[in-house]
Amino acid sequence: MSEFMDEFSPESLMMSAGHEPSLVRNSIKNTIFQTSTFVFNTAEEGKAFFEKVYGDGNTEEKNASLIYTRLNHPNLVTAEKRLALLDGGEDAAFFESGMAAITTAILECCQAGDLIAMSFPLYGGTDSFIKKTLPKYDIDYVELTPAMGPEEVLNTIKSHLRADRLAMIYLETPANPTNSLMDIGMMREVADELGQSDKTPVLAVDNTYMGPLWQKPVAHGADLALYSATKYIGGHSDLIAGACSGKADLIYRIKGFRSKLGNMASPWTSWLISRSLEPITLRMEKQALNAEALAEMLNKHPKVSKVFYVGLLQPEDPEYKLYKKQYSSGGAMLAFDIAGGEAEAFRFLNGLKLACLAVSLGSTETLACHPYTMSASNMSLNDREAVGITPAMIRVSAGIENSEDLLKDFEQALEKV
Ligand code: PLP
Repeated sequence: MSEFMDEFSPESLMMSAGHEPSLVRNSIKNTIFQTSTFVFNTAEEGKAFFEKVYGDGNTEEKNASLIYTRLNHPNLVTAEKRLALLDGGEDAAFFESGMAAITTAILECCQAGDLIAMSFPLYGGTDSFIKKTLPKYDIDYVELTPAMGPEEVLNTIKSHLRADRLAMIYLETPANPTNSLMDIGMMREVADELGQSDKTPVLAVDNTYMGPLWQKPVAHGADLALYSATKYIGGHSDLIAGACSGKADLIYRIKGFRSKLGNMASPWTSWLISRSLEPITLRMEKQALNAEALAEMLNKHPKVSKVFYVGLLQPEDPEYKLYKKQYSSGGAMLAFDIAGGEAEAFRFLNGLKLACLAVSLGSTETLACHPYTMSASNMSLNDREAVGITPAMIRVSAGIENSEDLLKDFEQALEKV
């Protein structure tokens, strides 16, 4: 099918990309390669495969040189080709969790004595890895907030003692759960300006919140897009996985490190992901429609004091220009403050009949949670206050249910507040 790659859109190619029927007795779908190792036809072939995988084979040669499942396997290749096709990366790598993808990428790019500039807020697991784990390996951090312009970002980094050792700028945009935005293009310029002649900081973007459809970090100048593939990419709340995609040379290095850590996605997880990627456009578009309908209803509701949804941004809002430049949809994640506090928020959550009360996001079913006491509870009180995560806040990940049913469910739960 590779000869058609330039002719059709990723949405259409997703059903066949990365799968060659003639390799599996013309099966229209890939089989699951539930094997730990691969038989070499001859000793010479085994030698050649090792030379390609550990030596200077190109990506296609490495993908075809099947040795041992921790190094590579056909289901992994299918999933990786599909993700790269969808989000515009030159190559991609899958892992057994989002945290595995994030920690492997960061460790590959940083060494003792280095500095990471991170956007604040970040997903709790990443925040804790950068702030509590990396200092043990002598890697320090500095925080950047959404309100900072380029001068302030540059000054903040330059005023750190290790400014000349900046190895990575790590962004999460939109931020979870407040939906605040960071400008990827602006951070590319910052990374280039701070780069040394022999080394430019890697610009990495956690793209979990918008998935591979609505924000294309690489097109905006990022070197790496990172994902909890547990979310939209898996999309059915039935697997844990992670991914990164981006510049081929960087993905090559990260895959090498992944082989050492041994945290690649298994054949079964990779197969599920390849399957989930086929209808991802349909799923995500319906999720965004439902999020928009909920956000509009909540925005007018007397028991709701504030709605956080980028799709509600208006031309007069400061983030509107960035929203239009960087995103192709308002997405399916929203949050709102209920009039009152924890008691009112809990009455709402306990009153939901159709939506599920659970953390995680990007799935077929609508999920609602209370960040203050659940997904963001590991943040300090000061940090929660600084970014506006209050006891009144409810986070919602819109699913693919019938829109009218969802609105009815939220309205009846609000009546119980
Ligand atoms: N990044 C973001 C924005 C997340 O929301 C999550 C999980 O919720 C992760 C990373 C970590 O992913 P995983 O739970 O798949 O390890």
